[in-house]
Amino acid sequence: MKYHIVVLGCQMNLSDGERLKSVLNHMGMTETEREEEADLLGMVACSVRQKAIDKVHTRIHLWKQWKGEKPLMTFLTGCILPKDRKRFIKDFDIVFDIKDAGTLPELISGHGEVTPLTLNTRELWEVDPAYVSPFEASLPIQNGCNNFCTYCAVPYTRGREESRPSADIEREFGALLDRGYKSITLLGQNVNSYGSEKKGLEIGFPELMDRLATEADAREEPPWIYFTAPHPKDMSDGLIQVMARHWSTAKQVHLPIQSGDDEILRRMNRRYKVDHYRGILEKIRTAMPEATLFTDIIVGFPGETEEQFENTARMMEEFRFNMAFIAMYSPRPGAKSTDWEDDIPQEVKKDRFHRLSEIMQNTAVAWNETLVGKEVTVLVNGRSRKGDQYSGRTEGMINIQFRSTREDLIGRFVRAKVVGLHGISLAGELTAP
Ligand code: SF4
Repeated sequence: MKYHIVVLGCQMNLSDGERLKSVLNHMGMTETEREEEADLLGMVACSVRQKAIDKVHTRIHLWKQWKGEKPLMTFLTGCILPKDRKRFIKDFDIVFDIKDAGTLPELISGHGEVTPLTLNTRELWEVDPAYVSPFEASLPIQNGCNNFCTYCAVPYTRGREESRPSADIEREFGALLDRGYKSITLLGQNVNSYGSEKKGLEIGFPELMDRLATEADAREEPPWIYFTAPHPKDMSDGLIQVMARHWSTAKQVHLPIQSGDDEILRRMNRRYKVDHYRGILEKIRTAMPEATLFTDIIVGFPGETEEQFENTARMMEEFRFNMAFIAMYSPRPGAKSTDWEDDIPQEVKKDRFHRLSEIMQNTAVAWNETLVGKEVTVLVNGRSRKGDQYSGRTEGMINIQFRSTREDLIGRFVRAKVVGLHGISLAGELTAP
């Protein structure tokens, strides 16, 4: 039997997709890139925007046509609002909670002529994933979120925070080290609140990072360890100290701020003020001056005045991010903010988006210019079609390109001298190996 899985949305869904593939591979199925030749079609859905849900409707409409022509089984999982789940049950053969992916073999065998296979576990986290990349991996450590930011539906689609047992995380992390992985990203919707719902029973995030990084530091070629997405309210001094102390903790922080205006932050239910965020940045920059800082920002949140937007623009100038993922607000089905009128005209949102993008471009370029003439370590992750140009990223996740006729560089750490800039990327020359 051949299967094909469509994954929509974020890194967490991609990671869940890797685990689902592993379950199906264990059942003796083979993956096919060609959707139309699959006997089992699955979808890991995303509810962030209505457009993503529309994609599920489009796909299942097509798959139902194919079902009229050949035996075909379909399943749906991922981030789905309870009301959508009810609707989709009649369209898909199987709809299940992603946490129950370990039961997929039983669900499938209940629906067709498939040899049932009993996995040792019913928990997704205990399924060994079929990692897409042989050198970069995502490692889920938590599922769900308790924060209820008003623009977000994750607490409704994935439920409340649930931390994965640290012993499981350490086991999977150790296996990745043994296999020589070069970049490992710990994943969670509110990753740095890890363990907080199991206080006294489980360690917290700084201690988890400390344990993993201690193990990684001892390896001959330690990987870079990242984590995403942290919440500013949970960014503790202890975590910053752990990051600064270890060789293997990547000196890169992606800390979503969302707005530079306290009133908008209050209405987003973010539970911190700009000044609190400023204090965290100061601590990070003092402890790790080389660290790069990424963020997420939403412009055009309901009721955002020009003055409130200008507070965000000033904050951007002051904080000098290396990268900002700027989104124009759009209502997310199921989120609290859908109760409020989406009252900022599209042209105003676009204008605000461009003004912030320009600031981000300038601060990123200014930082990158300080790297010109220096040597950096690069994790090589791509090669041009002609084969003469490689691309990679620095520990701070700044993209860099360099030329080489070597054949074997993808997935390796190399050293390169920064010789110039390509927009917000770097141009380099290979120096070693
Ligand atoms: S922290 Fe806020 S934005 Fe992030 S997943 Fe939780 S509710 Fe959504």
